[in-house]
Amino acid sequence: MRAQVGIIGAGPAGLMLALLLRRRGIDAVIVENRSRSYVEQRVRAGLLEQWVSDLLVETGVGARLTREAMFHDGIHLAFGGKSHHVDFRKLTGKGVTVYGQQEVVKDLIARLTDDGVPILFEVEDVAVHDLDGDMPRISFRKNGEPGEIACDFIGGCDGFHGVCRPSIPAGLLTTYEREYPFGWLGILTESPPPADELIYAYHERGFALYSMRSATVSRLYVQVDHGEEVERWSDARVWEELHLRLGGVRSLAEGRVLQKSITPMRSFVTEPMRHGRLFLAGDSAHIVPPTGAKGLNLAVADVVVLARAITAFYTAGRSDLLDAYSATCLDRIWKGQRFSWWMTQMLHRFPDGSAFDRRRQLAELAYVTSSTAAATTLAENYAGLPMTW
Ligand SMILES: Cc1cc2nc3c(=O)[nH]c(=O)nc-3n(C[C@H](O)[C@H](O)[C@H](O)COP(=O)(O)OP(=O)(O)OC[C@H]3O[C@@H](n4cnc5c(N)ncnc54)[C@H](O)[C@@H]3O)c2cc1C
Repeated sequence: MRAQVGIIGAGPAGLMLALLLRRRGIDAVIVENRSRSYVEQRVRAGLLEQWVSDLLVETGVGARLTREAMFHDGIHLAFGGKSHHVDFRKLTGKGVTVYGQQEVVKDLIARLTDDGVPILFEVEDVAVHDLDGDMPRISFRKNGEPGEIACDFIGGCDGFHGVCRPSIPAGLLTTYEREYPFGWLGILTESPPPADELIYAYHERGFALYSMRSATVSRLYVQVDHGEEVERWSDARVWEELHLRLGGVRSLAEGRVLQKSITPMRSFVTEPMRHGRLFLAGDSAHIVPPTGAKGLNLAVADVVVLARAITAFYTAGRSDLLDAYSATCLDRIWKGQRFSWWMTQMLHRFPDGSAFDRRRQLAELAYVTSSTAAATTLAENYAGLPMTW
């Protein structure tokens, strides 16, 4: 096969990149090692910065989002037995959209399929070749048969455990990493959320997050120890912790648990995000702890920059935007890292945390919920920093 752009990974980054290129008349092929139903059902992020939901609408994949998403003006911070509302709309004029990542993925796959963009699901043994040349290649096996795509550029959108980043010769990348001494146990449940907007709860027993997918389906998380096993958490134990950590600020309805999993918490950045004709985008280049709800949003930001650079190459013969790709993305990524780390350190119980640390965390929460300047800082970052490119 021949394509202008070969994309590895049918997550939000890969699919959005293909859509943006398609709208500019540039053809792309996506290869994905999972099945279509698997990627469409993978429960992950659920919170879109305002510009991301606006982009989905502008690019023609926002019809269902406009009908079904929940549009929030802020979040609640709960601590010390009280709940405090941070009103993003009032502070910044922007809100956030609650719409499951798997719904975004479904909408993008449906549109790309209608537009005839090839997405090869369930491919195996994906590898990249000739990254330093003018025509890099992607090889794979599908239904046991070998296949190959020759292209001008490769979008490495294959997530944290993909093949693209490890294909870059050792020594050319610098990585920055932080592991947190805890994870999030998340449940998806058939029960109404305890509030109309997300509640971030700081509690002596650990952090908890009360979010939702709809008026009848909640997505709830509790902080658990690093390396904890999901089997040790019965539904009853999860509900007990969720009730306790809400600290009495709302009542919590229980319901059937549809899904339960543990996510480790990690900060990770690799630089640069390019090697020859291979461009890393999204989780293949960076991971944030989910506390700031930035992962999906940063992935989309990367591919907006990449699509613009590839378009400039084809339409104006320019390679300056491709050369600037990594630095342009990293500016926003590091701001997302900073914010995600800040939210994480403010809200979680650290196993080695002292009484001093806990008093400091409470002082920080009290400051954020009483100072307009501090609340605006949170709101501006959470709802999405301005797009400066
Ligand atoms: C529990 C949880 C909650 C989260 N909450 C939020 C949130 O509220 N807000 C937010 O913004 N972010 C959140 N995130 C992060 C967000 O889900 C990710 O940042 C996002 O999925 C990144 O998109 P991506 O396309 O870069 O990578 P992925 O979504 O990981 O997509 C990569 C794709 O590549 C495929 N792939 C991997 N290897 C290969 C291979 N060798 N060959 C072919 N295909 C391959 C994978 O199957 C996958 O489909 C959360 C993440 C988790 C786990």
